[in-house]
Amino acid sequence: MLTDKIALVTGASRGIGAQVAKTLAAEGAFVYVNYNGSKERADEVVNEIISAGGQAEAIQCDVADFNACKEMTDKIIADKGRLDILVNNAGITRDDLLMKMSEEAFDAVISTNLKGCFNTIRHASRFFLKQRSGKIVNLSSVSGVMGNAGQANYSAAKAGVIGLTKSVARELSSRGINCNAIAPGFIETEMTAAMTDKARETTIAMIPLGRTGKTEDIAKAVLFLASDMSDYITGQVLSVDGGMYM
Ligand code: NAP
Repeated sequence: MLTDKIALVTGASRGIGAQVAKTLAAEGAFVYVNYNGSKERADEVVNEIISAGGQAEAIQCDVADFNACKEMTDKIIADKGRLDILVNNAGITRDDLLMKMSEEAFDAVISTNLKGCFNTIRHASRFFLKQRSGKIVNLSSVSGVMGNAGQANYSAAKAGVIGLTKSVARELSSRGINCNAIAPGFIETEMTAAMTDKARETTIAMIPLGRTGKTEDIAKAVLFLASDMSDYITGQVLSVDGGMYM
């Protein structure tokens, strides 16, 4: 489905991003596995892809750093001559109740989760515009759609990702560029592993399909939005959350 396509997946050293990288590679894409600090884990993802017969390379970059994102996209273009798919998946949480949340915790989450998407889109779009094609998939969250107590910073960033997605879609769609977002619900990764049993039970009770999500559930939706199966879809937010938000 993605033969000869070049893809960049940010935050692909573990969790949802790692699964997205493997899924796109299994469909024939050459995948750049971006990481910030976890080089060994990113190398493991790359090795797994190559062992399965796919193509991938690890690439370090802090997505919160505007200039570093330019260097990352420039390197991809220098090596491959094109970029077809950008998946903005890198994200962090610094949860706290509003009255205890530090300015630093707010800024850190906005910088990585929201500005990080702007940074990569800003630089990758130079090439998308020249090619007159490109697929951008941004990871938002059910928290960005519904809000969540204890996540003012994260919810604000993820709601911002939705506004960014729609504006980019409106601005670039006449040049053959699609930009969509996915809003995952509760997905089992290291990000959600710290949740208490009680909080987990309460969350599952809010999910009509009665279970938490797997990284594969998100990766399949990303594949759809990154492939030509979704050519007539742009500016949308696809909830992949077991029906939590409807
Ligand atoms: P995760 O397991 O914590 O993995 C986060 C990934 O992001 C890691 O690969 C990490 O790599 C990378 N990362 C963090 N900061 C970075 C930076 N500044 N630059 C580049 N990479 C960075 O998270 P996840 O659960 O897979 O979540 C993936 C995405 O889905 C996030 O955007 C998250 O907000 C969103 N999401 C998740 C859930 C869920 O239930 N899990 C629900 C809704 C939305 P390094 O260790 O190398 O920094």
